[in-house]
Order: sequence, then C-alpha cells, then structure tokens
Amino acid sequence: MAYVINDECLSCGACEAECPVSAISEGDGKYVIDADKCIECGACANVCPVGAPNPAE
Ligand code: SF4
Ligand code: SF4
Repeated sequence: MAYVINDECLSCGACEAECPVSAISEGDGKYVIDADKCIECGACANVCPVGAPNPAE
C-alpha cells in the first residue's frame, strides 16, 4: 500500500529529497507520490511539517 499526500500539503518540497526511491514530485497544487515506486518507508511522513503523507486506506 503506497503512501498518499493529502490536501494539507503546503508544497514545501521537503519530502521530495527524503524519498529513497524518488517517488515524490511536484504536482498541481500539492506534491504527489508515484504509487508504483513507493516502498512505504515512511520517510516522507516523518519529515512533513503538516503530516500530509499517510498510508493509503
Ligand atoms: Fe518515498 Fe518512503 Fe514516502 Fe513512499 S513512504 S513516497 S518510498 S519516502
Ligand atoms: Fe507537502 Fe509535506 Fe511534502 Fe512539504 S513535506 S511538499 S507539505 S507533503
């Protein structure tokens, strides 16, 4: 189950550099995670100031 970035995202970009598999990129109004690349390490959630990345339901 990949992580997903919710609408709380501030587009600060902090998570992009933390992702070990480069699954995160800037999207339209928020950053987005490529579900096919995400290995569910949680690094993005740990660095995010607003807790926007979470495991998908
Ligand atoms: Fe990248 Fe890990 Fe976040 Fe998935 S959980 S997007 S692999 S930092
Ligand atoms: Fe958005 Fe959080 Fe990533 Fe910043 S660290 S771009 S607020 S998901």
